[in-house]
Amino acid sequence: LFVTFEGGEGAGKSSVLKELGHQLKEEGYPVLETREPGGIEIAEKIRHVILEPAHTAMDSRTEALLYAAARRQHLIEKVIPALEQGMVVLCDRFIDSSLAYQGYARGLGMDDVFKINEFAIESCMPEVTFLFDIQPEKGLARIEANKGREQNRLDLEKLDFHEKVYQAYHTLAARYPDRIQVIDASPSIETVKQAAYDKLLPYLPS
Ligand code: C5P
Repeated sequence: LFVTFEGGEGAGKSSVLKELGHQLKEEGYPVLETREPGGIEIAEKIRHVILEPAHTAMDSRTEALLYAAARRQHLIEKVIPALEQGMVVLCDRFIDSSLAYQGYARGLGMDDVFKINEFAIESCMPEVTFLFDIQPEKGLARIEANKGREQNRLDLEKLDFHEKVYQAYHTLAARYPDRIQVIDASPSIETVKQAAYDKLLPYLPS
């Protein structure tokens, strides 16, 4: 079962992923927790190239291609083998991040970004995607409060950019209502995790 976690900055998706993974493991499910871009050595290196704050010259199409490259390698090396073993794969970000950030917020066009990602993933799509829904101002305020978080190139973006990401995610949720489940991310992690768990239950292998 392939499950992806999506949302803007400060939505809490990574924390919820950890909590949900913990609960599922306690219940005996074989779980793989992973993240994009990264999750394996080659893709972590690509992540570093993309997000390095000094790389201000990075072109948007280069960025989109690097995300797609990291995605492919991660899928081939880690996600697909785990799915073949019957694991529940919880992946922090996937194709919808590229559609929202590069396709819409960076203005490359969701359709073009979809095409390069189609090439990268060869139709290996998640069965379920959680969209953790939080107003950009609230998400950014959470990040501001969390000083321990690593700095990245996106920290230079203005609220306007994050508003676009937010809009794009909602466009995607309307376009793929069977796959994308929207979860209110404003309550506590425990409450948000429980909401995600309830929505996941029907998909879990018995
Ligand atoms: O999910 P995480 O916060 O670790 O992502 C790292 C950074 O990469 C974030 O600032 C996120 O907005 C950015 N990102 C992006 N385009 C993607 C995926 C992530 O700009 N396709």
